[in-house]
Amino acid sequence: MYGFFFDPTFILVIAGLVISMIASAHVNSTFRRYDEVRSTSGITGAQAAQAILDGAGITDVRIQQVAGNLTDNYNSGDLTLSLSESTYNSTSVAAIGVAAHEVGHAIQHHTGYLPLKIRTGIFPLVNIGSNLSFPIILIGVLLSWNQTLINIGIWAFALVLIFQLVTLPVEFNASARALNILRNDGLLTSEEVPMVKSVLTAAALTYVAAVLSTFLQLLRLVLLFGGGNDRD
Ligand SMILES: [Zn+2]
Repeated sequence: MYGFFFDPTFILVIAGLVISMIASAHVNSTFRRYDEVRSTSGITGAQAAQAILDGAGITDVRIQQVAGNLTDNYNSGDLTLSLSESTYNSTSVAAIGVAAHEVGHAIQHHTGYLPLKIRTGIFPLVNIGSNLSFPIILIGVLLSWNQTLINIGIWAFALVLIFQLVTLPVEFNASARALNILRNDGLLTSEEVPMVKSVLTAAALTYVAAVLSTFLQLLRLVLLFGGGNDRD
């Protein structure tokens, strides 16, 4: 088992971790920088979210405050828009940007944006795949290297990559919608728009980092277990 965890391909896992850590540090520092900038409009993240929902004619989404830092999310199941403490009551341009991004997801849901539908649809399958992938590969290895079983395990892991790839358009589109609305509705000044764009781009890069990290892990699985026929 040590051979599995610490073989030379483990460098791929480390590289993925480093990429994810850099992306995470970047979004945190960018958010902090523009969390220092009060918006000219003086509205809070929650007020901005409500204004955008009203503007889009969405009346069935409830806005609530949740604990944590950058835990903001939109739940399409119970139609709640959760804003973290740092977003809900803050009048910073960063908070308004994050709140508007989450409303972007609510609008995607409301208008039936296809990538979001696909993402929601494949989620249960991806969840099963990510949980069973390693056990299936392990059983395949233990059953005197059953390549069919091992390949099923690798494909189960590949579902995670597919899910993260479908997530990319969903995230980029939510940010694009947010920026458009904030600009057009005059909730941000022309000086504030690039600041929000920086925050949302940094946030989007964390999803790109996740894709790279998962790809490197998948590559490692393929290198270790994909071509087991020539083993002796
Ligand atoms: Zn998002």
